[in-house]
Amino acid sequence: MRRLLIAGNWKMHKTVGEAIELVRELKNLVSDVTDRDILVCPPFTALYPVSQELRGSNIDLGAQNMFYELEGAFTGEISPLMLKDVGCSYVILGHSERRHIFGETDELINKKVLSALENGLIPILCVGETLEDRESGKTKEVVERQIKEGLKGISSEEFVIAYEPVWAIGTGRTATPEQAQEVHEFIRSIIEGMFSKNVADRVRILYGGSVKPNNAADLLAMPDIDGALVGGASLKADSFSKIVKFD
Ligand code: PGA
Repeated sequence: MRRLLIAGNWKMHKTVGEAIELVRELKNLVSDVTDRDILVCPPFTALYPVSQELRGSNIDLGAQNMFYELEGAFTGEISPLMLKDVGCSYVILGHSERRHIFGETDELINKKVLSALENGLIPILCVGETLEDRESGKTKEVVERQIKEGLKGISSEEFVIAYEPVWAIGTGRTATPEQAQEVHEFIRSIIEGMFSKNVADRVRILYGGSVKPNNAADLLAMPDIDGALVGGASLKADSFSKIVKFD
């Protein structure tokens, strides 16, 4: 019922030349895929050239962050209108690296989510507990707060959630399919409480954190895992296309 979404988060990797090379290769490898959505999220500097390269392909374009204002004196920031202008349809918001390295709060992330929706971008709201949270039994409490605060006041239901346990990101340590499923099911129940059963049934909840070609199938077999947000393994066309084409 929910269409799978396999998204690549390139983080701070790839020059323009490298980005074009990667999507050229990727386009060919996944051109026969029709039953799932594919997304790449390059750094800001590569968005426009990548969007040109993706024209007419089955790969969508997203950004990794944005500011919530539309224009003005905000040195160093990028607005949702600018992202739309270069062909983005999605934007990753509240990634744990934004929260932990750049100090983004639930309140700021919520402003970004509202602005993305108002301006026709689909936000991918990232949530997830740290190792300390998990070991002290706070996983659900933390995830619930991040979801409720992040989605506060929204009137559109066109959003995606990514559950990314912080201890699994870039560490090679993946949540087991059962650990991930437990949190995904919990997230869906929060969405049902905030919105409706209908919205909860439709919302896509991606898993992120060391997704690789050899573990994607087991994770994606779980009933509440509707896709993946892939970091490291999205930087090579070969490994990302294998994740896209898992079966
Ligand atoms: P990873 O990153 O796949 O390299 O663990 C995932 C993410 O941070 O989105």
